[in-house]
Amino acid sequence: MLFALREGDAVNEHSRPNQGAASSPEVRTEALEDLLIEKGLIDKARVDALIERFEHDLGPLVGAKLIARSWIDPEFKTRLLADADQVLQDEGIGGAEIEHVEVKANQPSIHNLVVCTLCSCYPWALLGLPPSWYKSSEYRARAVREPRSLLRQMGLDLSEEVEIRVWDSSSETRFLVLPERPAGSDNMDLEALASLVTRDAMIGVAKATNP
Ligand code: FE
Repeated sequence: MLFALREGDAVNEHSRPNQGAASSPEVRTEALEDLLIEKGLIDKARVDALIERFEHDLGPLVGAKLIARSWIDPEFKTRLLADADQVLQDEGIGGAEIEHVEVKANQPSIHNLVVCTLCSCYPWALLGLPPSWYKSSEYRARAVREPRSLLRQMGLDLSEEVEIRVWDSSSETRFLVLPERPAGSDNMDLEALASLVTRDAMIGVAKATNP
């Protein structure tokens, strides 16, 4: 859905119960991890390696390859924009939090930005673990109230003529931004192109990297 919430509007069910800092999921998870390590049930290095794998290998590259392929294959791009779920199924891409995905293409006059205003809904299996700022209350609020100023602060200065469309993720729908192909990338192959597609570009807080 295109974003239309204002401050004070009611929030829906994918909001989580408001919990005090001392019992936040992060704190409880860390306490549990420490306990499991202490008992010898899990190995800290292995947990760290798993997180590392999610952050650097698994997630962003899966999404980046989809974007790179859509840059060189117009028919694939059309299918990805029309029915990402079918494309993911055809490509054998599954996993956490991508039950329903919509891809939004940037254009010279339109920039797409993804947020979850209420918690941290995010396409894990395409992008890996969400960055901590994605879950911050500041990002969630400012992406809606003042996206242009937020993006400028994050290093993306968009002209006033560019319309910013903010997409609010939910437990039902996750969004992926299809950034524009950067100039000077004409002779690059799929793998090289994918290396230009950053996690931030697919959230919409950056453009694809220039070659
Ligand atoms: Fe959410």
